[in-house]
Amino acid sequence: MPDLGHAEALMLALLNTAPVIDGVRRDELADTEGAQAWLAAQGWPASGNPARALREARDALKSVIVGTAGPASLAPFLTDVRATPVITDDGLKWTLDAASDNSVAVHAILAWDKLNTTNPGRLRPCSNPDCELFLIDRSKANNARWCSMAVCGNRMKARRHYQRSRQA
Ligand SMILES: [Zn+2]
Repeated sequence: MPDLGHAEALMLALLNTAPVIDGVRRDELADTEGAQAWLAAQGWPASGNPARALREARDALKSVIVGTAGPASLAPFLTDVRATPVITDDGLKWTLDAASDNSVAVHAILAWDKLNTTNPGRLRPCSNPDCELFLIDRSKANNARWCSMAVCGNRMKARRHYQRSRQA
């Protein structure tokens, strides 16, 4: 099981599994093959058919982040989860036991909650209205707007420049 830093990366990766590319929404978790490949890329054990559980967790978390659903809607992913304390030379570590279908969801929700507590408002959707990706703002000024400066940042700048030059 990953530590929370890794869980944060996992959460962001999960949120960003349905990018819009050239106006077409592509869902990496659309089928079993895609979902298993995605899990493998995250270094997560893949078995059975995780696609549906992953999609449900992703969509529920997205709705909570953008405010169209309350946090209580995440409750179904958190049933039958147990944390076991293990004492080591480095201190206390918690091991999570969750039904394997929900283990990614549980870690993603924990990471989301931790981020809300330690860095509230830092997880947000990309400001490009045509983009469906999320970002975690790590800038000092807390003013990052794009999932990627290289993609959405430049695209939106170019669009504003085009609009300005048309108006001029
Ligand atoms: Zn974007």
